Amino acid sequence: MLTGRSPAPRSSDRARLDVAVVGAGPVGLAIAWRCSARGLRVAVHDAAPGSGASAVAAGMLSPVAEAYFGERRLTELLLASAARWPAFAAELTETTGVAIGYRTEGTLMVGLTGDDLAEARRLWAYQQGLGLPVTPLLPSGLRDREPALAPRVRGGALAPTDHQVDPRLLVPALRTAAQRAGAAFVPQAVRHLSDVEARVTVVAAGCGAAALTGLPVRPVKGQILRLRAPGGVAPGFRHVIRGYADGEHVYLVPRADGEVVLGATVEERSDTTVTAGAVQRLLRAGVDLLPELAEYDLVEAVAGLRPGTPDNAPILGPLPGRPDVLAATGHHRHGIVLTPVTADLIADLVVTGVPDPLLAAFRPDRFVGAATGGGPDRTMEGDQWS
Ligand SMILES: Cc1cc2nc3c(=O)[nH]c(=O)nc-3n(C[C@H](O)[C@H](O)[C@H](O)COP(=O)(O)OP(=O)(O)OC[C@H]3O[C@@H](n4cnc5c(N)ncnc54)[C@H](O)[C@@H]3O)c2cc1C
Repeated sequence: MLTGRSPAPRSSDRARLDVAVVGAGPVGLAIAWRCSARGLRVAVHDAAPGSGASAVAAGMLSPVAEAYFGERRLTELLLASAARWPAFAAELTETTGVAIGYRTEGTLMVGLTGDDLAEARRLWAYQQGLGLPVTPLLPSGLRDREPALAPRVRGGALAPTDHQVDPRLLVPALRTAAQRAGAAFVPQAVRHLSDVEARVTVVAAGCGAAALTGLPVRPVKGQILRLRAPGGVAPGFRHVIRGYADGEHVYLVPRADGEVVLGATVEERSDTTVTAGAVQRLLRAGVDLLPELAEYDLVEAVAGLRPGTPDNAPILGPLPGRPDVLAATGHHRHGIVLTPVTADLIADLVVTGVPDPLLAAFRPDRFVGAATGGGPDRTMEGDQWS
């Protein structure tokens, strides 16, 4: 158990640190903020803060639209984190004075063709079966909400509690908050855990966690585009739009400053090359759903690497046999939405030594001895990983 407020740490004073955080993405920075705010002496190690997946991420906070079959425990964690987002965003903005693009208009899920709508409806039925707020809309109701949607769009549903934030504003704000709370920054990558001296080490290095810990975190490539409404005006739609368009799954995230994020591919690859085919598919699906996008400027085409795991769920808690090393990685497609709950629960664990029950399904030892892992939902059924 680590408690007490002491002077801010100096990087030359590492042996007396309470917490070393490896990785300054949203997850590591939020953990550093939460731990520092509790009076712990914290240092964050990263040669290139904010350069991981968050640098390209869309920033959807979508526990409902991303409640997929077979991922019930992950959905519970996503919902728990989304519930923390309003207070988290308000506290971050109040602490730093920085607006982070947190928007609450909600998410529209749409299907372009009859086949697309049939596929989408299966998922909506599952989500409604979990008691999640998904309201089917007739085409007329859809267009009342978003007149810019293509007339071809066959139908949709509203997920009013799925919100968004801008990761490119969030990450610098988190860094400022952590610094103001007293965290020190060491501008170097960590090669071996033994190079870091602190009472507790938190590995929040995204895809970099695999080399440091041996945990099964693998890169999952995502290509993503940024467009901009001409004339410096806001985009002609306000909701996040997630669409099925001729079998292609895309999302469109409007920002107040005119930017629209259009993503994303999901590829089992570890390069960050942008391919013509992916750009073509994303643009075709995006323009099919929202024809006005054809007039927008295409300002960026990039790829990032999500920290994926065998069961798509994050890895949170002590490494097997190493109670002094906590993993906070493997957030895959959900690292932005999961930032608040990860930070709070890992900081609690550091301070009290007692894991919150929510963490039980996401422990690192669920993968011990497994090629593909048991996973949070099997943990519920009480198999060998529980
Ligand atoms: C195309 C795309 C779209 C996405 N959209 C969304 C979305 O809409 N909503 C959502 O919730 N999530 C989204 N994500 C996922 C999200 O970006 C990640 O889950 C999230 O960034 C993970 O945060 P992190 O801090 O764990 O890792 P990262 O953001 O990857 O940051 C890891 C940090 O660790 C550092 N690091 C790595 N190795 C070391 C080392 N050895 N020593 C020190 N530092 C190290 C890196 O430099 C980096 O700064 C998206 C991802 C992609 C690629």
